[in-house]
Amino acid sequence: MPIELAPPAAARDSLLGNFIAGSWSNDGTDERVADLDPASGEPLIEVVRSPSRLATEALAVAAEAQQHWRRRSPLERASVISSAASLLRERSEQIAETMSREEGKPLPEARGEVGRAAEVLDVVAGYAHKPTGEVFPRRRQEQWLLTLSSPLGVVVVIAPWNFPLLIPAWKVAPALLAGNSVVLKPAETTPLTAAHLVQAFADAGLPPGALNLVLGRGSELGPALLQAPATAVSFTGSNNTGRELASRAVEQHMKFQLELGGSNPVLVLADADLDLTVREVVAGATSSSGQKCTATRRVYVEEGVVENFTEQLRAALAPLRLGPGIDAATDVGPLVSSEAKADFDGAVAEVEKVADVHAFGTQPEQGFFVRPRLALGGDPDHPLFREEIFGPMAALFAVADFEEGIARCNDTPFGLSASLFSSNLTHALAFADGIDAGMIHVNSQTTGAEPHIPFGGFKQSSSFSRELGRHGIEFFSQVKTVYLEGT
Ligand code: ADP
Repeated sequence: MPIELAPPAAARDSLLGNFIAGSWSNDGTDERVADLDPASGEPLIEVVRSPSRLATEALAVAAEAQQHWRRRSPLERASVISSAASLLRERSEQIAETMSREEGKPLPEARGEVGRAAEVLDVVAGYAHKPTGEVFPRRRQEQWLLTLSSPLGVVVVIAPWNFPLLIPAWKVAPALLAGNSVVLKPAETTPLTAAHLVQAFADAGLPPGALNLVLGRGSELGPALLQAPATAVSFTGSNNTGRELASRAVEQHMKFQLELGGSNPVLVLADADLDLTVREVVAGATSSSGQKCTATRRVYVEEGVVENFTEQLRAALAPLRLGPGIDAATDVGPLVSSEAKADFDGAVAEVEKVADVHAFGTQPEQGFFVRPRLALGGDPDHPLFREEIFGPMAALFAVADFEEGIARCNDTPFGLSASLFSSNLTHALAFADGIDAGMIHVNSQTTGAEPHIPFGGFKQSSSFSRELGRHGIEFFSQVKTVYLEGT
């Protein structure tokens, strides 16, 4: 029943099309690609592979629509966003099942993602009631000095597959609230989930053209999307693609925002609650099959407890059940694609040359599954342990003390998130101060994104802006200064 995974209006004859100027269509497309179920490798639906011409067309449509959308009051724009949040909640079961079938994550995680996306929309809508400018002291009594917040224009959103609803939602909603129009290009592997987001906005009353969806290959559509009339791009994905997009954005004089990789550390001190730590490390390393930019990759444990902790961690990883996301018994779903599996398998083979790699769970026969891995006994200075590996793998090392732990945690080109497990407040404060990362956790896993607080990283993990909350909205606006005087 592939068609039931799509919003009813979006797919005709088991073919998912683009959403441009307010309607679903496969016009202008000849090529099709299969959207695969990663648990079986079987196709769920056919999807159009758009030529770059359609990206150009979508930008033109968005530019026209933005002229009207920007004139709606922020409260009107917010009411559309709130209605879209309600629709996501009403459709939660269908969207979660679609996401679980298409991306592979276990159904409870998919349901959580739908709920979180709806919450993000509500939080964004709430900003319509907040001030958006400032009034400055006057030099002369007759002249008022103030700022207004202006939209950027047409925003391109290039989204990843690992949070196929939440990440597009947290980019699209603030862009729309700020009065921009959007062209969304979802990841090739998760177009159905993106179609649900677009349909929710359309059904919520968003005017035609204010949000458009173009399906196809990033490498083909990217160059056409990063051109006038687009004025900004918000991207989440790999560092290589991010670098390419950033240089193109600079050439085209577009504002850009990049959320990239991570190699997120955990430091476990001897005074940690080990049961809690084990639970959080397992979740941080294996939820969404480790395919999160905030996933736990490196675990540094104080020498006194390293043996005990390693034993408990292995015992907790051993019973994990691999299976399709939609099976209630599944703890760990497949990776998203055969390419993701090949990359992960290649990385494991490299790590196996320099550490003892232990595998857990039973490998299913079909699909793009990989067994969760724990690397022990490696040299923490080896470059492999500083890089991002996208999948359920963590490496564990002993450290002599807190100071060595901090230094090891920081020893990576990335700086997205980091966790400390300890009951010592002084160490907690020193950790929050001393770690070069955008998000610090004390006694909780490295993953997580609250809808109302900033999300983003230091170093090569981000491009110095933040998503979510107030910061997330600011990216999509520009400041206009007004010198105001009567005649
Ligand atoms: P991953 O390797 O994790 O899939 P990517 O950075 O390749 O990460 O993909 C993230 C998003 O970027 C996807 O939507 C993908 O289609 C898109 N993308 C990939 N290459 C390009 C490119 N050259 N230009 C624009 N978008 C791209």
